[in-house]
Amino acid sequence: MSPITHFIGSWLVATAVADSPRDRRLVTLAGVLPDADGLGLAVDVAQSLASGQEMSFHYYAKYHHLWCHGWPAAIVFSMTLAYFARDRWRVALGCLVTFHLHLLCDLLGSRGPSLADLWPICYSEPLFRHPIWFWKGQWKLDGWQNQCVFLAVFTLSFWFAVRLGYSFAEVFSKRLDSIFVSVLKKWRANLFLKPDA
Ligand SMILES: [Zn+2]
Repeated sequence: MSPITHFIGSWLVATAVADSPRDRRLVTLAGVLPDADGLGLAVDVAQSLASGQEMSFHYYAKYHHLWCHGWPAAIVFSMTLAYFARDRWRVALGCLVTFHLHLLCDLLGSRGPSLADLWPICYSEPLFRHPIWFWKGQWKLDGWQNQCVFLAVFTLSFWFAVRLGYSFAEVFSKRLDSIFVSVLKKWRANLFLKPDA
């Protein structure tokens, strides 16, 4: 699924498991970090720009979904992030949940353009080759199913933000978050609440 869906979905989980903004940020991060192994794409782009040749996607294809989409990365990320947490055990557990939610979402919906372009989850990479999991019915990355999930998660996050008084923007900045939530509350007041008589 798209990094934005991973991000907002992970933040929703974080609201359920962590009490402080810092801990929610860490749990959210664990649900996004697996895609760090896709940064080889930046090297591919840089090489293509420097050489003037067509882009090869060499590093992207070689490392993406292999280095950070298995249990070794789950342990490393969760332990590292939990180290910076207030409630370490709770955050470690939350990180494991959001990390594996990311894997599940990728298994469901990260197919390329053709039916054969399935992205498998190689759960023990980069240490071991097996097990390799894939789903033949995997949704296209930009397919309608993924768009529906995104819309559902996005809408739910707005509802939670108004209810809780903080939003996924808190991951970036407390100030941005308070502005964002106050805008959402104004929208809700204009749309759903009756004006005073
Ligand atoms: Zn991924």
